[in-house]
Amino acid sequence: MLGSGGPIASPRRVSAGYVLSIGGKPRLLVDAGGGSFERIGRSGLDISSLEQILLTHLHIDHTSDLPALIMDLYMGDRKRPIAITGPTGRPGNNAAPENASPQPGMREFVRLLFGLRGAWRYMNTFEGFGITVRDTSVYAVAVPHGMMPSVAFRVDCGAESVVFSGDISASTASFIALAKNCSMLVHDFALPEGDVPNGKLHAKPSAVGYTARQSSTKRLLLSHLMPPIESELAQSLTIVRSEYDGPIEVASDLKAYEIGAQRS
Ligand SMILES: [Zn+2]
Ligand SMILES: [Zn+2]
Repeated sequence: MLGSGGPIASPRRVSAGYVLSIGGKPRLLVDAGGGSFERIGRSGLDISSLEQILLTHLHIDHTSDLPALIMDLYMGDRKRPIAITGPTGRPGNNAAPENASPQPGMREFVRLLFGLRGAWRYMNTFEGFGITVRDTSVYAVAVPHGMMPSVAFRVDCGAESVVFSGDISASTASFIALAKNCSMLVHDFALPEGDVPNGKLHAKPSAVGYTARQSSTKRLLLSHLMPPIESELAQSLTIVRSEYDGPIEVASDLKAYEIGAQRS
């Protein structure tokens, strides 16, 4: 767990970021919010073995440390492209007013940052530099999150599986199907049950619990906490527990969560 927080600065939580190690080696980075870079340094993780970066969506609290981490990989003598997967974009003029503005997908995002006319075009002078945008790889489904195209990911490895909700505003049938019987569900837990600003962007505790129960999730890890839920944490957890009776943990930055048998 690099960052268990959201877009508001906190003394204990940086923005969203997760490293998935398999066989003792970091293989996947999921999201790269502000602070992920510092947390990787502090944790001592060697990310030279990273195979892929998964971005749930392009909100700043999930992506702002991406350039710093890309830079780190190539300063660390990486000589092969890094693969990135994320949502596709959306053209404008959608019938729904909240979808009226076009949003870049992963391909355009990378081009705007690192393309030959991008803001950080100088990175192309690094030997072996490259970012391969993959449209498909791990399992993913689209999830609702206001006007921002967003996806949730599922990674299977042997008998174990971990699902990352990313930011998600409600429980949906397709997300429940994605999370079915997973070993661990890392779920957005940003806001309390009552009415709060931006309350439509994140699932309420009752919806989190409902998803965990309906999907028969084996273990629920709550992340992306924001100040409004921190101040109502006990009540919010009680609401989740009223829906889901499996093990529940509130994520802490820099804590490692073991899934299945450790192999190294
Ligand atoms: Zn977020
Ligand atoms: Zn978001």
